[in-house]
Amino acid sequence: MEKYTGKSILKEIAIGKILFYSKDEQVVQRKSITDTAAELARFEKAKEAAVAQLNQLYEKALKEVGEVNAAIFEVHSMMLEDEDFHDSIRNMIEGQKVNAEYAVAVAGDNFSRMFAEMDDEYFRARSADIKDIAERVVSILQGRQGAGELGDEPVILAARDLAPSETVQMDKSKLLGFVTELGSANSHTAILARTMNIPALIGIHTSETMNGKMAVIDGIKGELILDPDEETLFAYQEKKDEQERQKALLQELKGKEDVTRDGKKIRLFANIGSVGDIAKVLANDAGGIGLFRSEFLYLEKQDYPTEEEQFQAYKSALEMMGGRKVIIRTLDIGADKQVEYFGLDKEDNPAMGYRAIRICLDRPEIFQTQLRALLRASAYGNLGIMYPMIISVDEVKRIKDIVKEIKAEFDEKDIPYGNFEQGVMIETPAAVMISGELGKEVDFFSIGTNDLTQYTLAIDRQNAKLDPIYDAHHPAVLKMIQMTIENGHKSGCWVGICGELGADTTLTETFVKMGVDELSVTPASVLPIRKIIRETVADAANVANGDVHF
Ligand code: PEP
Ligand code: MG
Repeated sequence: MEKYTGKSILKEIAIGKILFYSKDEQVVQRKSITDTAAELARFEKAKEAAVAQLNQLYEKALKEVGEVNAAIFEVHSMMLEDEDFHDSIRNMIEGQKVNAEYAVAVAGDNFSRMFAEMDDEYFRARSADIKDIAERVVSILQGRQGAGELGDEPVILAARDLAPSETVQMDKSKLLGFVTELGSANSHTAILARTMNIPALIGIHTSETMNGKMAVIDGIKGELILDPDEETLFAYQEKKDEQERQKALLQELKGKEDVTRDGKKIRLFANIGSVGDIAKVLANDAGGIGLFRSEFLYLEKQDYPTEEEQFQAYKSALEMMGGRKVIIRTLDIGADKQVEYFGLDKEDNPAMGYRAIRICLDRPEIFQTQLRALLRASAYGNLGIMYPMIISVDEVKRIKDIVKEIKAEFDEKDIPYGNFEQGVMIETPAAVMISGELGKEVDFFSIGTNDLTQYTLAIDRQNAKLDPIYDAHHPAVLKMIQMTIENGHKSGCWVGICGELGADTTLTETFVKMGVDELSVTPASVLPIRKIIRETVADAANVANGDVHF
């Protein structure tokens, strides 16, 4: 039995076998072979397995993100069946008497380069798809598994690092938990783990030797126990059962109102990264969606999602929520959320760099595509559009002008759209300080405490070394929240919190007393927060008397 200490992302327990995931560059060796027929058969078998994987991925994506987004896996299947691609591999195996891995890798490189040099933008973008399918077949030939395919048994995934785009592609039903060496507690991979309600530890030295071993993630202590003895395993199984019993008790709160003892109603909403998360929102009985991080639509693709693809995703979200509020945040790319096809320059200080609304206002064609999709979707439910990383009133005015232009075009062309609210995220100290002015321009504020803490305390949220002093309870952060709520209310806005701090049960009472109107939290936090709201006395007079202490 070995123990490793790390930083916990979710205070829960996971028990299961470890699957070590390595995304190191594929190393493919050229080997001479004599039995070409056997080698060709190996290739055919791997190809069939790849097609089966792609079909499964298609079915999963169809359920989670809709037909338009799932289509990429069909395209991959078709490419895999392409005759020219096959001939090239067959010729190499037969002519050069090389192993199948090598032939597939070389053919993949050649075809991918050929596509990359084409004039047509669509075909150029297919270059990455060819690389992807070649890597899939090579992985199967080498007996390795990618992050997307976790095998039949649910596992605890161990990796050196996981990117948000990799996490989003995983089959969540096969993931008991994950441990990584890199990443910080406030990174988006960590946030995804919380959204998916998956116990996770970071800062754990992971290695291939862990593969297949039994393990326990103790999210309360922040420990990974490898090869636990029988007694330890039994004790953890008991603890896990107890956690499940507590969760079952919370189920009784389903269908109950989010109202304080003295009658103040709070909107208790949930945060999501994709349409696939909505099942959890509904299962946990959230009153709406307070933050749909739309950038994950971009992260899981190899090219810009089209207006139609986005429209379908937003429309599904609105329809699935059946009239309940759905607040979709416009693209917040940059910093730790990098997408290759955006071609963003490497920056020395990306958190303070070219990200979110700055990219959208600088590259209006991307922003307009998203806004058009959002406006079209607004005809199908109760939409709120929210803009991230705002620092000035001028930015908001420019955004509203673009929205107005789209409305005018839609009116002229008879394209339907509905009513929708517009709001800004308050996640920079600048936005807090001018919240009085910003409030006159919008319908609501949503406080992004993850970035607000980062920028207020001047602590890079990605820097694991600084995790111990990344203190979201710092009085400066809490005063910023209070100021935003007060200024928002004075200028007629409702004010919510959608950063991770909104789910901190030790602060629920403080936020309610400050006058917060909405809390948007990971789906699994909805019922625990409902419990506290219903036990709290809001007593707004306390706030007016300056009687809220922190
Ligand atoms: C935040 O900054 O608090 C927030 C909700 O946005 P994100 O974590 O996606 O940057
Ligand atoms: Mg943010």
